[in-house]
Amino acid sequence: MRDCIFCRIARHEADARVVYEDDRIIAFHDIAPKAPTHLLVVPKQHIRNLADLHLEDEGLIAHLMLSLSDIAHTAGLDNGFRTITNTGPGGHQEVYHLHFHILGGRRLPAL
Ligand code: IMP
Repeated sequence: MRDCIFCRIARHEADARVVYEDDRIIAFHDIAPKAPTHLLVVPKQHIRNLADLHLEDEGLIAHLMLSLSDIAHTAGLDNGFRTITNTGPGGHQEVYHLHFHILGGRRLPAL
């Protein structure tokens, strides 16, 4: 997806404050943070959202999920964090490239 902003960040064609990267995922600071620390963890492969996942994505998603805690710790979130992913208009998804928000750095309100 040439014009997708998260694809462009994954290809290092757009600026981002990257905190972690490997061959399958990239994590960077959200441009408009909603908590003292607000990261986005993104598969490099363009997948629209959770509703666009297929069985062949199982390994990629397992890798991403298993990386979240280490990425949060790398960012200093040793006291816990919140992970959110928004799906579709009903979930108020703004960027249609699957991403997991990691929020922390203060005690977050109950959902
Ligand atoms: P969602 O799609 O509603 O889950 O949220 C998209 C998130 O991406 C928002 O929190 C935006 O602030 C963030 N965002 C949009 N563009 C950029 C960017 O270029 N760099 C970093 N974060 C971005």
